[in-house]
Amino acid sequence: MRRLLLLIPTTTYRTEDFLEAARRLDVEIVVASERPNVLEADFPDNLLTLDFANLVKSVSTVVELARRKRIDAVVPVDDLTTVVGAAIASALSLPANTVAAVSTTRNKHRMREALSQAGVRAPSYTLLTLADDPAATARNIAYPCVLKPTILAASRGVVRADTEAEFVAAFRRIAAILTTPEVAALGEGTNEILVEGFIPGQEVALEGLLVKGALHVLALFDKPDPLDGPFFEETIYITPSRLAPPVQAAIAASGARAARALGLREGPVHAELRVNDQGPWLIELAARSIGGLCSRTLRFGTGLSLEEIILRHALGIEIASLERERQAAGVMMIPIPRGGVLEEVRGQAAAKAVSGIEEVTITAHLGQDLIPLPEGSRYLGFIFARAESPERAEAALREAHRRLEFVIAPARGSG
Ligand code: ADP
Ligand code: CA
Repeated sequence: MRRLLLLIPTTTYRTEDFLEAARRLDVEIVVASERPNVLEADFPDNLLTLDFANLVKSVSTVVELARRKRIDAVVPVDDLTTVVGAAIASALSLPANTVAAVSTTRNKHRMREALSQAGVRAPSYTLLTLADDPAATARNIAYPCVLKPTILAASRGVVRADTEAEFVAAFRRIAAILTTPEVAALGEGTNEILVEGFIPGQEVALEGLLVKGALHVLALFDKPDPLDGPFFEETIYITPSRLAPPVQAAIAASGARAARALGLREGPVHAELRVNDQGPWLIELAARSIGGLCSRTLRFGTGLSLEEIILRHALGIEIASLERERQAAGVMMIPIPRGGVLEEVRGQAAAKAVSGIEEVTITAHLGQDLIPLPEGSRYLGFIFARAESPERAEAALREAHRRLEFVIAPARGSG
């Protein structure tokens, strides 16, 4: 039986969907996580602890394991494990992206440099460090601009500034995020702030699979809520896109060029682009699949999940079709409206009763401290819709969201 190694960081939303997909394949599953599992001693061949940040040690632990029993594929399920995944795959001589290519996607400044060298249309940029004087820098910046950490994700610390005063405030706010012990522990890049030209336009997300360097577009999502700042909260994703076919083709071409520029060749990619009169602009391309629980909107061929496609590709198992189902689908990442302690969630049954709504999943737990953007990076939960048209899927999500009520008490220790 083939053996599949899944690299699952403890903070990911993706565990269940990948495990479910793996169970549907005829494979032996090995799970690696950064926290020890109590069952590890009983299942030494199937559970292991890896310090994902320590590439050398992680690689040697897995190589050791693979010597006893072959490993046929390595799948990092989330952002935090893509680099170590590439390092392990390369040590085991499995077909995968290079560590260099994946590392480039994990630093927004290095990504910008690679895209710019390859002539991919993307925002102008300047790299700052926390040692720079924000007031002096602010005088030489073109507005509006976007400030962001180079190594975080989920829009954490991404802030638009329209004036010098807003620039200075945003810089200080991001500096505070970067110097929290939890973020500072991430090491390289935590002293960097990237400043980019603000690109107006409509935003889309492209979900793709690279096979021997060729990009297959699995789904293109519209993001119908305006993302104009000052913070960039992800909310609604709807597929298929309502953009004109030539615009969609230009987006796919830009995504393919970006993947090539970054040196990516195999596996899932998730890209964000903005489209305006000048065409598509590449905001970001990550060497992973869509985050949160959003992949649950997608079904392919005769019902394969996105995770099954990713696992099959990694294991070299045939995939009958990469064609998404005909129906429209959508998801709302339920944003945190304000900080505080989540006390109660009302209206879930009413929200689920909206026509077209498939599921309402609250992922925040009662008693949890909710941190809104730009400091936070989690959602309250996810609403899923399937309908005949993108318009109907979007309307269903909005109505379901309207029926939900989140009771949030003031945060402990605040007045
Ligand atoms: P993250 O990795 O945290 O998702 P991104 O660089 O993708 O960071 O930025 C998050 C969101 O912020 C984007 O999806 C987009 O809506 C907005 N954004 C980021 N950079 C720009 C920019 N240069 N112009 C306009 N919007 C931007
Ligand atoms: Ca992004």
